[in-house]
Amino acid sequence: MIFSRRDFFCQGLCLASLAVAGRPGKGRAAALWPGDKIPLREALNWESLPGQRVQCKLCPKECKVDDLERGYCGVRENMGGKYYTHVYAAPCAVHTDPIEKKPLFHFLPGTNAFSIATAGCNMDCAFCQNWEISQTRPEQVQAFYMPPNEVAALARRAKAASIAYTYSEPVVFQEYVYDSAVAGRQLGVHSVMVSNGYILEKPLRDLCGVLDAIKIDLKSFREKYYKEVCAAELKPVLESLEIIRSTGLWLEIVYLMVPTLNDSAGEIEDLCAWVVDKLGPEVPVHFTRFHPMYRLNHLPQTPVSLLERALKIARGHGMKYVYLGNVTGHESESTRCPGCNEIVVRRAGYTILENKIKQGKCFSCGHTIAGVWS
Ligand code: SF4
Repeated sequence: MIFSRRDFFCQGLCLASLAVAGRPGKGRAAALWPGDKIPLREALNWESLPGQRVQCKLCPKECKVDDLERGYCGVRENMGGKYYTHVYAAPCAVHTDPIEKKPLFHFLPGTNAFSIATAGCNMDCAFCQNWEISQTRPEQVQAFYMPPNEVAALARRAKAASIAYTYSEPVVFQEYVYDSAVAGRQLGVHSVMVSNGYILEKPLRDLCGVLDAIKIDLKSFREKYYKEVCAAELKPVLESLEIIRSTGLWLEIVYLMVPTLNDSAGEIEDLCAWVVDKLGPEVPVHFTRFHPMYRLNHLPQTPVSLLERALKIARGHGMKYVYLGNVTGHESESTRCPGCNEIVVRRAGYTILENKIKQGKCFSCGHTIAGVWS
């Protein structure tokens, strides 16, 4: 079912529950995808090949796609030698979240993010929390018709400081992200992207021109893990991180620590050394606790001791802002001033208890706290 704007307002802003209710079982369509209501949109970032084939130039998979076939992510289709996206203006999840949930800890703390996602992903992570929308074709989820100007208007109406492109993988709805971010900017609403960073340089740079912050899920620091657990590669993600950092856009990194797979001290050492060397010690890194999920249901949740070991390694490398995620009540939830060690932002879960940053500086010693604070 596609919702009109009027339907949308009738349902209120909390549409995620509808999306969840409408999620299909694997392979069972729960909703129609009437192409007559949401027009297909010609994709950006592709090239023609002989014989009505096309090559996608959006992400490092660079799929070569025959006529009437789709790329790996399942949302882009070759129709007669032209490449189209099926998910422009068609989010299947819409919700307003605290920005801390993304998590972005150094970007307008205490504000809300109007969050949208479409079907599809260009990876297949065995631990995916949102596999019911990320590993699904657009026809298999309930979608809402929401063009970019409506996204921006609804975000403002929800009093959200930003639009967040999140839950599934915004790379595969890049055109929609771009246009929504432009529309948001015109209304004074920021845009943040929560991404796997698996994207080619040109479309990434295009996005960096209209976004205000990016959080990248760095899945591991080993190619083997990317290949075997995520069906992707590490190197392009590292290149994306360097590009994002070079643009000056606010960047945070999340590392989901999966027991036995990417939790060794050696891997964390390598990761931290690389981040400090290539991105600098001021990029926040969140080491997040894994919970049994999707195809990794057989693994236990991450022991807090392993997360604390990562915290210690990162601080040992001189990282200034290191957090543990999904460990409610841990001392690392709060931000401390790297100059005097006072707590400058005190958090409990997604709640800001206290924000003592004054004009980007520590209230106590005046040290600059990296981030976007107003
Ligand atoms: S965005 Fe999709 S179609 Fe394009 S290269 Fe990546 S996986 Fe293939």
